[in-house]
Amino acid sequence: MQYRMKLVLVTLAVFVLSGCFPSNDLTRQEYLMQGKTMGTTYNIKVVGEHIDTVKLQQGIDDKLKQLNQEMSTYIKDSELSRFNQSTSLEPISVSTGLARVVKEAIRLGALTQGALDVTVGPLVNLWGFGPEYRPETVPSDELLIATKARVGLDKLTFANGMLAKKIPDIYVDLSTIAKGYGVDLVAEYIEDNGINNYLVEIGGEMRLKGFKHTGELWHVAIEKPLTNERAVHQIIVPKDNAVATSGDYRIYFEADGQRFSHIIDPKTGKPINHKLVSVTVIHPSSMTADGLSTAMMVMGEEKALAFAEENDLAVYIIAKSDHGFVEQSTVKFMQYLK
Ligand code: ADP
Ligand code: MG
Repeated sequence: MQYRMKLVLVTLAVFVLSGCFPSNDLTRQEYLMQGKTMGTTYNIKVVGEHIDTVKLQQGIDDKLKQLNQEMSTYIKDSELSRFNQSTSLEPISVSTGLARVVKEAIRLGALTQGALDVTVGPLVNLWGFGPEYRPETVPSDELLIATKARVGLDKLTFANGMLAKKIPDIYVDLSTIAKGYGVDLVAEYIEDNGINNYLVEIGGEMRLKGFKHTGELWHVAIEKPLTNERAVHQIIVPKDNAVATSGDYRIYFEADGQRFSHIIDPKTGKPINHKLVSVTVIHPSSMTADGLSTAMMVMGEEKALAFAEENDLAVYIIAKSDHGFVEQSTVKFMQYLK
């Protein structure tokens, strides 16, 4: 989970907006909290009166620390790492947090017909994008076949809060939806503290609610798909939703003049290689948006759009063409375009 911020907050002044706070309310303030988690940064804005942000941030950091201790594959003794290291096929009872993420991962795996597969870890490591060392070379076919045999959601079961392996060396990597889950967790914690106007962002995954202190709706920008530059591509107003973007233009390696993405197609066992450069999803849940955006990245342009329409999703994609970048959005996404 390296640092990539593909959704950037628009700091430009934005005018004319409807649905504001009562304009005579000048006591409202915007508070910013920043920190680090999951190998990346977080930026959280809350709006209200006399918010004790020291206490709030302490609570948020505690939640995030717990999350990491439950499911980080970078922490050797995390709950998930211990499950991965174990060769036992006995079902084990897991924490509420890990259960929630595993359950959603399995649901999204089925929904996307295996495009999102949290057991893909050995392949991720094979291609050098995991917590293990980075080879920067193309693995042999033999190694690829042997590694694929260790991958597949059918080799993992989760029932009644119990997680079990069907083969000893299955490896679960939740990094594709853990950031999104972190965002949901923080948003829920903020709401539990009686705050209903906020923006939570962890490593580019975002969830927003309500209004800024000025009474305007929150604005978010989708970044231009460039590797060497940061520029705004499209401004969106997601309202009370989460926004996730998956794109392979920040993390990749090159070998023999070919670029290799950090997203693996579980069907081929190889990094994706097609014209889709980014997929943005707007959904109430950040974890779901996060997983779906990665899954649609795996599917490629045509399948992703068909999947989005079939499932009534708000999706915006950018694809490469001979004439530059081409954007397409589902009907449901259009309401959020600025
Ligand atoms: P993006 O923001 O581009 O979607 P994420 O960090 O959300 O990237 O997810 C990519 C990470 O998920 C990879 O670094 C890898 O660890 C893991 N991954 C790669 N391919 C898949 C896949 N098909 N299903 C699930 N996880 C994947
Ligand atoms: Mg993702």
